[in-house]
Amino acid sequence: MGTSMKIYKFGGTSLGTAGRIKKVADILAGALQQDKIVVVVSAIHHVTDLLLDAATKASNGERSYCATLEELEHLHLSIASELFSGPLLDEVGAAIRAELSDLNNIAQGVFLLRELSEKSLALVMSFGERLSARIVSSCLQERGMASFTLDARKLIVTDSNYADARVDMHASVLQIKKHLAVFDRVPVVPGFIAAAPDGTVTTLGRGGSDYTASILGAALSASEIWIWSDVDGFFSADPKRVRDARILPYISYSEAMELSHAGARMLHPLAVQPAMKAGIPLLIKNSFNPAAKGTRIEKATPPEMSRPLPVTGLSSINNIVLLNMSGSGMVGVPGIASRLFSCLARHRINIIFISQASSEQSITLAINPLQAAKAKKILEEEFSSEIGSRQIDHLLIRRNLAMVAVVGNNMSGHPGVSAQLFETLGKNGINVIAVAQGANEMNISLVVESHDEDKALNCIHESFFLSQRKVHLFIAGTGTIAKSLISQISAHRLHLRKENDLDVVVCGIANTRRIAMDDNGIDLQNWKTLLIPRVEHHGIEEYLKLIRERNLHNTIFVDCTASARVAEIYPDLLLANISVVTANKLGMAGPWPLYRRIRDAQRKSNARFLYETNVGAGLPIINTLHDLKNSGDKIISIEGVLSGTLSYIFNELRKGGKFSDIVRRAQEAGYTEPDPRDDLSGADFARKFLILGRELGFTLEYGDVVCESLVPPEYRGEMLVPEFLDRLSSVDAWYSDAAEKAAAEGMTIAYAGEIREGKATIGVKQVPLSSPVAGLSGSENMVVFTTERYRVTPLVVRGPGAGAEVTAGGVFADILRIASYLV
Ligand code: ASP
Ligand code: MG
Repeated sequence: MGTSMKIYKFGGTSLGTAGRIKKVADILAGALQQDKIVVVVSAIHHVTDLLLDAATKASNGERSYCATLEELEHLHLSIASELFSGPLLDEVGAAIRAELSDLNNIAQGVFLLRELSEKSLALVMSFGERLSARIVSSCLQERGMASFTLDARKLIVTDSNYADARVDMHASVLQIKKHLAVFDRVPVVPGFIAAAPDGTVTTLGRGGSDYTASILGAALSASEIWIWSDVDGFFSADPKRVRDARILPYISYSEAMELSHAGARMLHPLAVQPAMKAGIPLLIKNSFNPAAKGTRIEKATPPEMSRPLPVTGLSSINNIVLLNMSGSGMVGVPGIASRLFSCLARHRINIIFISQASSEQSITLAINPLQAAKAKKILEEEFSSEIGSRQIDHLLIRRNLAMVAVVGNNMSGHPGVSAQLFETLGKNGINVIAVAQGANEMNISLVVESHDEDKALNCIHESFFLSQRKVHLFIAGTGTIAKSLISQISAHRLHLRKENDLDVVVCGIANTRRIAMDDNGIDLQNWKTLLIPRVEHHGIEEYLKLIRERNLHNTIFVDCTASARVAEIYPDLLLANISVVTANKLGMAGPWPLYRRIRDAQRKSNARFLYETNVGAGLPIINTLHDLKNSGDKIISIEGVLSGTLSYIFNELRKGGKFSDIVRRAQEAGYTEPDPRDDLSGADFARKFLILGRELGFTLEYGDVVCESLVPPEYRGEMLVPEFLDRLSSVDAWYSDAAEKAAAEGMTIAYAGEIREGKATIGVKQVPLSSPVAGLSGSENMVVFTTERYRVTPLVVRGPGAGAEVTAGGVFADILRIASYLV
């Protein structure tokens, strides 16, 4: 044996089965080659819960406590029979039976009296650790490691607060030194249990074996205290809630304490103190993966491990209530807080969180929900005279809340941490209900709705720990635009990750019939095969409900439909702080009340709403207009051609040829809607001008846009497409006349729109040959901005204004714009 001495404490899961206990023996066999070891054990997995359960049942007069005790006996005996054989098995088996028979007697007493004092409960609970210590010690012996059990009741002295006893450190150190001054066999000590000065058993609170280990380590000046559990160490956040959480190789004592108090289940919150005082490092190790380095808890960061990050870790308590006491009678009255706290302390109600603003008008406390009703009652009694005289209002209790703690030594004196924290929460629409930060500046605790807990943890974690940020997309529609968008994202995703540290994750794709959802990202190569039929509800409302239930951070809803019903939900999305990118015009060009609701929601929301592709597909028209307006330019007029089909028809007319022939050719080449009258009516074109008009601040309805339809009235009704095309030649002469007349004046004809002085008009117009509109070719779109700054030569945006690829590209660009705002 070497010179150093270590404490190894094994938690319940590390002792969960005979196989696990053998692994523990392996670990110890290896460790004993170098060090002297004192072993501390928890009860076998679930045993403490079963004991509590049996005791509670017995005290309620439920006979089923007997079945629970049988289950306990069976559990221990079956583990023993797997581990041992021959006389050793007889011996251990007899010991287990004897202990359980004692336990049975106690439980029967509780059952008969229907009374369970904390003293009897502590006695019942002590059986778990006593049994596991016995089994582990025998297992070591069986493997040739000399060992003995040492009852913790001889070692740790506490007060008589049986359930959560307070340790008398001085007395305990004397006892420990006395019993463990020298030993040549491996001591196995039951954790969690201790004794009051009169010798009755007490317990150190749930999870208290860690505390036992730390007390022993400190008393014996161990070189290290190793806490073996079933995870690889402290994580930057709970990995069950935050997928990208990472192991922290090193944290300080104070960080470990802050994280443990705030819900991280790695360590009993009190376990750090004795080790810290004695300057002994604590190691968190995984008995299921002993090769993992684990987390080392020590005083100061070794320089090679020092982190540049201000935040070390996050943890959360997912069920708390807030208790609020307020009233004008509290201002400047000394002693209110002291009465409040001592009253709670007298009734052993633990306060998780405190916040009081400098106005002193109210104090907010967070406590365990199970104690809320009691707390309210006793405080109302305590302050009954103040409440009677209205100096203090009735106590308010708010439920369904979670507390998130952001912890780090480096936060102290590091400005900007809380700014960053609240910014990311705000952008994700997470309402912060209460905040507390102590002057040591190493813990900022916030209270949020339970529903927002995971979202808060994820966005805070991403903001402080990850260079790469995520946006989560939910796409509506699976038509040509959606298809192009998905393939563009798929092709470009890796690049964005590498170059922009941005991960664009598509979490949902849905149409009215089918849906695919995956929070971790749908496989974009195979998304079509992943769509499954939607059950029951097929509407957009149901999709919205699913998205809201997910409540992922940095969520963007992407509308690739042409559905009015989808457009109707934009306000709800925005009010739920979900950003929206849309290629669907039916929101911005929808009825004025819908348009107003979208705008109002946008103002109230922290989320963004972008719709560049509503006008001219991917061409930068809306953005250009915003830039002009925001930089103080005055828009005099907007003119343009915003229909690819109509652009094509008039560009061809300009070369000569008959109107009806050109329409037929366009239809055959697929440049038009299946029914070309949908293009010739100018309706879609008019919607774009409606949007531009509204952008300029005019109150316009669709009906206010004066739009000349190129479909003669007699051809509008039921007439089928082939008949329409055949009859269209009747208008050819009109177009050739109009073209000739224009040519005589050095002009040409075009189907174009214009907004000037609040009036939007669209139709066949004469334009000078020098006009940019006359120079269009193919199916190009164009918008001409004449402004105060661009008066002599107007600002022109020109290019293809339709097509799945360019539209999807525009949608993608909007998504990235929102991403760069969010992250
Ligand atoms: N067995 C006790 C409990 O389950 C103590 C411990 O495991 O640390 O709380
Ligand atoms: Mg534990």
